[in-house]
Order: sequence, then structure tokens, then C-alpha cells
Amino acid sequence: MSELHLSNRVSSLKPSVTVAFTNRAKALRASGEDVLIFAAGEPDFDTPEPIKDAAIKAMKAGETKYKPTLGDMPTRDAIAKKLTEENGIGLSVEGGLTGEHVAIGAGGKHVLFSAIHALFDPPAPGEPAQELLLPTPSWVSYRPIAELAGGVVREIPAGVENDFKITADQLRDAITPNSRMLVLNSPSNPCGTMYSEAELRAIAAVVAEAAASTAPGLLILTDEIYEKIAYGGIPHFSIGAVPEVAERTITLNGLSKAYAMTGWRIGYGAMPGAFGKKLIKALGTLQGQMTTCITSFNYAAIREALTNPAVRDDVARMNDAFATRAQLMEKRLAEIPGVKCPKPTGAFYVFPDISGLFGKTSPGGARIASAADLAEALLGEAKVAFVPGEDFGGCGGNHVRISFACSEETINEGMDRFAGFVAGMK
Ligand code: PMP
Ligand code: GLU
Repeated sequence: MSELHLSNRVSSLKPSVTVAFTNRAKALRASGEDVLIFAAGEPDFDTPEPIKDAAIKAMKAGETKYKPTLGDMPTRDAIAKKLTEENGIGLSVEGGLTGEHVAIGAGGKHVLFSAIHALFDPPAPGEPAQELLLPTPSWVSYRPIAELAGGVVREIPAGVENDFKITADQLRDAITPNSRMLVLNSPSNPCGTMYSEAELRAIAAVVAEAAASTAPGLLILTDEIYEKIAYGGIPHFSIGAVPEVAERTITLNGLSKAYAMTGWRIGYGAMPGAFGKKLIKALGTLQGQMTTCITSFNYAAIREALTNPAVRDDVARMNDAFATRAQLMEKRLAEIPGVKCPKPTGAFYVFPDISGLFGKTSPGGARIASAADLAEALLGEAKVAFVPGEDFGGCGGNHVRISFACSEETINEGMDRFAGFVAGMK
């Protein structure tokens, strides 16, 4: 059977460590192990009832057939209205943001995948590759998706000392004539930090300046999937609202995190202006050859999520719970020697520096020389699942990602186990 083989492209594609670690921890728990899971990037809350009811009602009413590829227009319009009113997207652009500037896909990851594939080409022979500018540490999927599309990643490192944020000057230095897309993600996975409006305006100014000179093809893709999980006093700001970059900014979002709907698979992307419409149409062409539309009765659920005031209250309650957990997590980590962590201000992650533990031996006798070693030993010996930081890029190899989308009781028990593990290291 040696003549059977996978494509080179897919064979060399890196699996998602966040997905892999979460699946592994869930499987261990299903097999009866007492595993505490801090790996999952998903809220532990259930989807608000009115959203479920809307989907059930739509299903019972016969909304069970194919829908238009990028979603029905009332739902795309509802998303455009949300982005205009809450985020200021398209306000400065002629014609504003309409449903035609919005694509709905099977999760933010799917829309991101389509957008990158619609914008990147593999290099022609002798030509330089197109660059994705990526502040790192960053979520594990941006790099593999860009590379699959033929792009190269230019990392812009952002460490603990700068709260994991790049500066406008760093960005200016990183841009080249081949730069095609800058990815921003605030609140950040895995760092749990957020950019302020002033910082984003400074970044927008650099992009606008580069677009007018060295890098005319440069776009911004701003991943705002954690927008509703912000508790550190920094109000969420959408860079797409800045007029100088409004027509070169794709805003990515979805329902997974804000509404505790990870399993529903609903995401969307939007971009105002003439090119925005063209890009969205291209996403439709791609999606038409990939998934057709998303699940038909989910469109009613989207409209419910975006417009029902009772759902807004549920979202606020979940955010309050994340705020309390963030404080607890920060306090518990601060008590563990060898672990350093900036204050989380958004999303439900902390990304502590654990390199102070390198060179030691775990209580079970494993030599710890990397974040991967630590995550492995901790899972095997203490039954605590953290995600090792290597695949997040930049300084990530010195960090682990801890998701606190779990109860306070789990946080306390998990941090007791982690503290005990560290205390037992030699
Ligand atoms: N962006 C970031 C930063 C994420 O953490 C995730 C997590 N899944 C996504 C996008 C995609 O989420 P989904 O596909 O569930 O919408
Ligand atoms: N985004 C979540 C995470 O980072 C879910 C898994 C994934 O899509 O990467 O854990």
C-alpha cells in the first residue's frame, strides 16, 4: 500500500495543541480518571435558554433545509447592526456596514480559515512569500492556517514585560512590502490581556502609514471572539472603528465564547467598503465548495442571541463569574514560587511564566526542561491539565496556558494540586 499517501500540505500541518490537549484530558476523565481540566478554551456555562428555545422553535417550524451560503439576509443584517452599533464598524465608510459585508461560517475558526485562504497565495517561483504579521504569543491556529495557504509568518514578539502587547514602533519595524495581514486578538488567547483604545489607535496609524507607502496590500484581521469577556477595566475597542483603517480591517467574531455556544459552531467575519463586499463574496464562493451554509436552525439562534435583552443579562452574569475567577486564579498563582503571571484583564486564560521550574525534577521523578515536560508531568502525576505554551510562539516555551472557564471549586482544587506538585519538585 506504499503508493497511498497523504498530501504534503496536510502531512506537514501541525495539529492544534489546544484541541488535542482538551480532547486528551476529556478522554482521561471519561475513562474514570479524576482529571481537573484547565485546557479547554470553552465556557463551562450552558447556552442561555432563550437561544436554545429559538433554535428548537426554528427546527420545529421546518427550518431544516439548506440556507443561502453565507446566511440568510435578516441574520447577516442583524450581525451588521450589532457591529455598527456596538463596535462602530463601518460608521466612517460610505454605505456603512450591511448584511452584504458579513459572512457567517461554522465557527470563528472556519471564517478565519476562509479569509486567509481568500487573501493569501503561495509564492510564485522566485517571488517572496506573503507575510502574516503575528504578535506572539498568540492562539495556536493562526500560523498553521496561514502556512497552509502559502503564507509565511513574521512574529512580532510581545513578552510579559510589556503585558504581552506589541507597540506601534515594533509593528513599524516589522512591516515589509510583502506584509499582507496583521492579526490582532484582544482580549487575547492565551495571554488574557487587552489592548487599550489608545494602543489600538497607534497601531492603526502605523498600518495606515504603511499602506500609503511600503505595504499597500496590508490588511488587519482583528479576532474579537473574547470581546464580551473583559473585566480588568480596559473597555473593549474595535480597531475597525478607526476611520484610517476601516476599509482594510476584517473583524472576526462568533458566538462560541460570549454565549457559551462552542458546540453550535457559529462564527462570522465582516468588512465594510467595496473590497469588503468583494472579500465576503469570495468567502461565499469558498464556503459554497466547502460547507454550503451552517446548520439551518442556528440562524434564528443568532438573531436571538444578538437581540434578546435577557440574553444580554446572561452574558453579563458570565462575565462577572469570569472576573471573580480571574482574581482567584491570580491570587492562587501568586502564592506558587517559580511562577510569574501578569494580571488577566480579558478572556478566560492566564499564561504564567513557569521557566523558574526548569532544571528541576517532578515529584514523580520526571526531569522538567520545558513547558511540554511540565504539562505532561502535571497531567500524569497530579491529574491537572494545562496546555504547554510552545505552540503559541514567541516566549511561549516558558509558559503554560491555564483556562479558568471552570468553577471556583475546580480552580482551588487544581491550584492546590499544582502548588503541591511544585512544592514536591527537587
Ligand atoms: N479565535 C480565538 C482567539 C480562539 O481562542 C478561538 C477558540 N476556539 C477561536 C478564534 C475560534 O472559535 P470558534 O471556532 O469556536 O468560533
Ligand atoms: N480556542 C479554544 C482554545 O484555544 C478552543 C480550541 C481551539 O479552537 O483552539 O482552547
